[in-house]
Amino acid sequence: MSFTPLGLAPEIERAVRDEGYETPTPIQEGAIPGILAGRDLIGCAQTGTGKTAAFTLPILHRLRTGARGRLRALILTPTRELALQVCESLRVYGRHVRLDSAVVHGGVGLEPQQQRLRRGVDILVATPGRLLDLMQRGNVDYRALEVLVLDEADRMLDMGFIRDVRRIVASLPARRQTLLFSATMPDEIRRLSREILRDPVNVEVAPRRSAPAKGVRQTLLPVATVRKRDLMAHLLETEARGLTLVFTRTKHGANKLARHLEGRGHVVALLHGNRSQSQRTRALDAFRGKRARIMVATDIAGRGIDVEDISHVVNYDLPNVPEDYVHRIGRTARAGATGEALSLVSPEDHPHVRGIEALIGHAIDRRVVQGFADNGASSSRPQAGSQMRRPKDLRMMRPAGPQMRPAGHGARPNGNPIGSVVSPIRPAAPPIRSAAADSSPGSNHSGWRGRGMRRRA
Ligand code: AMP
Repeated sequence: MSFTPLGLAPEIERAVRDEGYETPTPIQEGAIPGILAGRDLIGCAQTGTGKTAAFTLPILHRLRTGARGRLRALILTPTRELALQVCESLRVYGRHVRLDSAVVHGGVGLEPQQQRLRRGVDILVATPGRLLDLMQRGNVDYRALEVLVLDEADRMLDMGFIRDVRRIVASLPARRQTLLFSATMPDEIRRLSREILRDPVNVEVAPRRSAPAKGVRQTLLPVATVRKRDLMAHLLETEARGLTLVFTRTKHGANKLARHLEGRGHVVALLHGNRSQSQRTRALDAFRGKRARIMVATDIAGRGIDVEDISHVVNYDLPNVPEDYVHRIGRTARAGATGEALSLVSPEDHPHVRGIEALIGHAIDRRVVQGFADNGASSSRPQAGSQMRRPKDLRMMRPAGPQMRPAGHGARPNGNPIGSVVSPIRPAAPPIRSAAADSSPGSNHSGWRGRGMRRRA
């Protein structure tokens, strides 16, 4: 299917074509018609599925006519990086319509943002803390607001922003269109959506369990704790030769690892919450522009990274939260490409491995890199890429059969195809449309063949 049947204005379709997109992704196909019809929406989709365009395109369509210079759409995101990326998407997809977007986030001075708001904007992308700050200073006027988007709502919950979000929403006009996107649907997010959305269309393109993109090959590399840094350097010098994103659990760990790698002659970009906004922007630009082949990042900073061509994601430390593993490895194999996810696993990581394997529903291949085996702890594990059998405890934790099938080809116990979608939250209202949607970009099922992923500086 092309974009034409979705009914977007020609100038917006043209911008999509300029980007080289030929087919809407499943979330776009499922969400855009409902949003254009003015409905509220819950979009359950991971990053990498094209969800940003799923809401920015219809917002640009809606706002392209009508008054200018008054705040008509507000998009809340959990991190600065994501806010900047959404703003960039608005610029790219909105290049043939004359709408002003601005971004406000913490970590930089207030004054330029206040000035920007005073000049008037049509669309504002914001992180919750800074927005509240600006609201309290009387810098934001919501009287003309028509659309609210909560992007990555589950992440806002994880980061403790939900109270801020509720306070912001309470200041908005009640008559508005509200769109909520979230990779997962914890109870708190469900409750929030019942409170702030009206008769929403529900579009889901990922199975409710977390599923990494299909193109990512995942491998666990057992390693002794004291050899981790050396194995990391070894990987960068032997197999991870492309653009490589390395995750550490702590900011301190990120600093130490970056210094170590620099000591071995690598150019390293460093991204974590203690760095100033300009340092973060410079680091991302260097990585995106391939002047630094390696980026070391922590989860929060790394979450929104949308950089083309990342060939390897390395988990130097496994994350405490299994869902973060899925988000991390989703930074490679974007939009239908392939990529490698390597995880260094020392003995203290084994509990994290169990949580991750339970979440994704299968065991991850183990491979010992010669000379770096962990302290013997992996000797009972399968070697060299062999498909591991599911440990008993994981078998117990895994939901029943059909969910193990590849997304889009299985059926849920309730009879709905995994990854397809679309039921209203209130059982009484009829679904607005039904999209055969597969969670994996580029699959035959969805027909999405993204040339996509182009970014303009
Ligand atoms: P997102 O999930 O919004 O972070 O998008 C992931 C990537 O997919 C971005 O780099 C987009 O440029 C790209 N993308 C979005 N929609 C399409 C499409 N219809 N075809 C190809 N690529 C797309």
